[in-house]
Amino acid sequence: MSQDGTSEPQTEGDLRNTGMSLKHDREWDYELDRIIEEIEARDASKVGLQFPEGLKRRGPAVADDLRELAPDVTFMLSGQPCYGACDLDTYLMRRTDVFVHFGHSAMKESDRIIYVPLFSNVDPYPIMEDSLEELADPADDPDVGLVTTAQHMNLFGDMVDWLEERDYNVHTRRGDDRLTYEGQVLGCNYASADIDAEQVLYVGGGKFHPLGLAMEHPDKNVVIADPVNNVVTIADPEQFMKQRYASVHKAMGSEKWGVIFCTKIGQGRWEIAEKIIENNDNAYLITMDEVTPDRLRNFNMDAFVNTGCPRITTDDGPRFHKPMLTPGEYEIAVGNKPLDSLEFDTFHGTW
Ligand code: SF4
Repeated sequence: MSQDGTSEPQTEGDLRNTGMSLKHDREWDYELDRIIEEIEARDASKVGLQFPEGLKRRGPAVADDLRELAPDVTFMLSGQPCYGACDLDTYLMRRTDVFVHFGHSAMKESDRIIYVPLFSNVDPYPIMEDSLEELADPADDPDVGLVTTAQHMNLFGDMVDWLEERDYNVHTRRGDDRLTYEGQVLGCNYASADIDAEQVLYVGGGKFHPLGLAMEHPDKNVVIADPVNNVVTIADPEQFMKQRYASVHKAMGSEKWGVIFCTKIGQGRWEIAEKIIENNDNAYLITMDEVTPDRLRNFNMDAFVNTGCPRITTDDGPRFHKPMLTPGEYEIAVGNKPLDSLEFDTFHGTW
């Protein structure tokens, strides 16, 4: 599944479970001229290209365009699954001079990596206009937080101005090291919404991010202005929370626990995984890159706890044959923490 930037996981408009179809065609800015400039500046002869899942089909055409602009350079495509900037193809990176990662902003800066976030060309203002219906009137409550994904970051400053012109007092925040931009959210990190406002406007495609945001900040009213699907909705995490409580209940009483440590470069939480197995003789550490139901089926476990991407647990959890919990949910299931401590699993720091 998923998980970030564009790609968290649904790169072209996260339509899962929404029953909606794309209202606007998205066009992405591949920034080919910048890529060529940077390749030339580094005198690179071998270049790796990595696309998130939703855009892999465009990879060969982008490689063709780049070949035309730089005929002496060899371009190679990564076929590894990719859902976030946490998910770089390190094998291809080691074998190329420059590695271009499309669809996400930098999680970790490196001289050899060119991040191309793929800014969207969709105009957000008509749907922001509609979203005013759901925001409090500025005369009653002018404070509003503003967040978006990497794809709309090129317009973030303008969106702030747009709200201020309508008498809102806009609160924005740069999250932590996992985030590149002020106001940016990831599927595993909503630190940019830790702001002093009771309402947050999320501008972006799909419900993937705002649901996580609403789970992480249950005290805030999260208004979704989705310029891709052309709808305004309020994030309602209740069904998500019910599903999480159900998984925790199902896992209670489990004896054998599989503790998944994800080997993707930006998803490892070794200390958390190690602490669990140190304190539970019936817990077994299992390392893997892609965490899929098929890969876990042969392990004879009663339940799993996933220390990798939290969205695998929250979004794909029901697809696994045994309950799959986040580390915090595991603590509840084994009785170390009370049920009401259940919260969204977020991920901080890089690697
Ligand atoms: S760990 Fe975070 S950045 Fe990586 S795929 Fe999951 S949600 Fe996205």
